[in-house]
Amino acid sequence: MIKDKVVIITGASSGIGEATAKLLASKGAKVVLGARREDKLKQIVDEIRKGGGQAAYQELDVTKQSDNDDIVKLAKDTFAGVDVMYLNAGLMPNSPLSALKTDDWHQMIDVNIKGVLNGVAAVLPTFIEQKSGHVIATSSVAGLKAYPDGAVYGGTKWFVRDFMEVLRMESAMEGTNIRTTTIYPAAINTELLDTISDKVTAEAMQNVYKQYGISPDRIANVVGFAIDQPADTTINEFTVGPANQPW
Ligand code: NDP
Repeated sequence: MIKDKVVIITGASSGIGEATAKLLASKGAKVVLGARREDKLKQIVDEIRKGGGQAAYQELDVTKQSDNDDIVKLAKDTFAGVDVMYLNAGLMPNSPLSALKTDDWHQMIDVNIKGVLNGVAAVLPTFIEQKSGHVIATSSVAGLKAYPDGAVYGGTKWFVRDFMEVLRMESAMEGTNIRTTTIYPAAINTELLDTISDKVTAEAMQNVYKQYGISPDRIANVVGFAIDQPADTTINEFTVGPANQPW
């Protein structure tokens, strides 16, 4: 069931997070949106409310533990609980290692890895206490295969894969039965390429996305499908991409 579930979504100010918030709200979920751009969050929440949906938002930097703790608190205060945490915030400033864009490397580790850790740390006490919950994370096909220019990005997304599976295993062993779903998207048209600072890499990626990119609604659909399953069923993984994209 999606209806009445309280779903926190990080990276909800554009792309996959925005599409997912809108879809889930249209199906009766109570969505709590977080990202750094408050103006965009406000606009999306206004739109959801105008359409009859229930939504709240909070400015959130996933690299700050206190922001993650606050958004969990907001969900509980506003909607009396939290059922799903969708850890989706991320960036992809790809480049060849030889370009030595070390600031970009560290930023990806901070947002794509530490952001996921902070989000889980914020919600886990609640899920353990209620002996239920669902953690969803956006990894990437770059978390399944190696790509030139994507060493660090792929590493962060590979981390998500391992972390989510161990979270699921440990929770099952401990009897808290938290569901986990890891999503591996291929080319999805969002603002993600704007984060690439290396010109040559940016152009190459733009060409790939121009040729193959599909709508973020496709990812929202599978997130909805995973949430909709009965509580005793976890859908661990989805790989989703354009039908005509060979890699
Ligand atoms: P967008 O750039 O459109 O969305 C990224 C979101 O992350 C934005 O809402 C951004 O909001 C947020 N974000 C970035 N940094 C932070 C931060 N420090 N704290 C909180 N929020 C942050 O791209 P996508 O929708 O594509 O990206 C969503 C996820 O999907 C990412 O994890 C990405 O790696 C993954 N992905 C995307 C693919 C694609 O082809 N598009 C393919 C595979 C995976 P703000 O700037 O307002 O903080």
